[in-house]
Amino acid sequence: MTKILHRTIGTNLPKAVAGQGIYITDSEGRSYIDGSGGAAVSCLGHNHPEVLDAMKAQMGGISYAHTSFFTTDIAEQLAEQLVALAPEGLDYVYLVSGGSEAVEAALKMARQYYVEIGESRRRHIIARRQSYHGNTIGALATGGNAWRREQFKPILPETHHVSPCYAYRDMQACEAPETYAARLAAELEAKIVELGGDKVMAFVAEPVVGATLGAVGPVADYFKRIRKICDKYGILLILDEVMCGMGRIGTIFALEQEGIVPDLVTIAKGLGGGFQPIGAVLLSEKIYRAFAEGSGLFQHGHTYIGHPIAAAAASKVVEIIKRPEMMANVINMGDRLQAGLDAALGQSPYVGDIRGRGLFRGLEIVADKDTKQPFDPARKIHAKIKREAMQRGLICYPMGGTIDGKFGDHVLLAPPYIIQPDQIDMIVDRLAAAI
Ligand code: PMP
Repeated sequence: MTKILHRTIGTNLPKAVAGQGIYITDSEGRSYIDGSGGAAVSCLGHNHPEVLDAMKAQMGGISYAHTSFFTTDIAEQLAEQLVALAPEGLDYVYLVSGGSEAVEAALKMARQYYVEIGESRRRHIIARRQSYHGNTIGALATGGNAWRREQFKPILPETHHVSPCYAYRDMQACEAPETYAARLAAELEAKIVELGGDKVMAFVAEPVVGATLGAVGPVADYFKRIRKICDKYGILLILDEVMCGMGRIGTIFALEQEGIVPDLVTIAKGLGGGFQPIGAVLLSEKIYRAFAEGSGLFQHGHTYIGHPIAAAAASKVVEIIKRPEMMANVINMGDRLQAGLDAALGQSPYVGDIRGRGLFRGLEIVADKDTKQPFDPARKIHAKIKREAMQRGLICYPMGGTIDGKFGDHVLLAPPYIIQPDQIDMIVDRLAAAI
């Protein structure tokens, strides 16, 4: 009997023993295509030789030094690489060890920023319903899944939620995308006014929603409108790119596709490529200056921030994903995946929508395609698809519907960026058979 408390108690998980490229092998010798890169993590596949070499080289130097005593070349190099790739206006980097830590740090940065500039009355955080921003208490409170938060209450009472930008479900048949975007922006503005424009601290959103909705991108102009409203009321805009960032949708930062610059961006998952746990917050000059000219201290920190081996892995991952052929492959293979899924499953009565960008694609499973009626969540259709896919040698990332039954089951695909055409076709075949 295992002594590990697994997330789902009592399930018999296969044992992963090896990984190579897009494949994972279990202890029975079965091979799986890692069609979701775990949870959109393994962006370069498993055992990438250049990343392994970079980590080994760092181990021969300094493998750990606490950041209250030392800085390291490798952490500084990584920060420089990230700032060089980010749009102008994101000028500094705070390194952490994962996605929840990144979101938590961004929220505390926002909070402290307003304290530093003498506006400590700004405490409210607005995020979107049906969102996921992590599992630590602050990130959990920010996330918009009522059922996830419920048993941990009271947690950060000053968190509020507005509608996500979810055209498949919420855009009216006769509505233009601009009108839909304007409607959502008006909803956000009404919430800000209700709370008091000078009491809201931040608006938090994923550019392309991953875990909870299954690769749902915004309609055109949505984020431009959001940016304008945040500016109007002096609210910080935090974009959570933990899942959709680092090249996943065909640009290094997802926000590049929205034509706006937020005040804070969180990244993780693909940053370490699964080789090391690492995340980061990119922040604007304005926030950095408030800290530097104010207390001179960001009142936050974890033992492993800027870990040299994690930084070495991430630095190499970033160097590799920025090669032009890498983003070209994400776009081409992403198009092939969408076309393959459309051809194999577009006519299925149970597949309501197939969507996404780059190598970030989602399918929404419905009981009735015309009415978009989801399956009863108790049937756990997403979990059945995951099992059927694994039996066929495919890992895909499933998500359940919500308790209120408004949203259906989803399947997310996020394979490594090194994937080849025949492997994309195998993903399509296996997933279609599983569904
Ligand atoms: N934000 C988003 C958008 C995520 O998808 C996730 C993880 N699924 C997190 C934050 C939390 O990241 P982690 O699991 O590394 O703490």
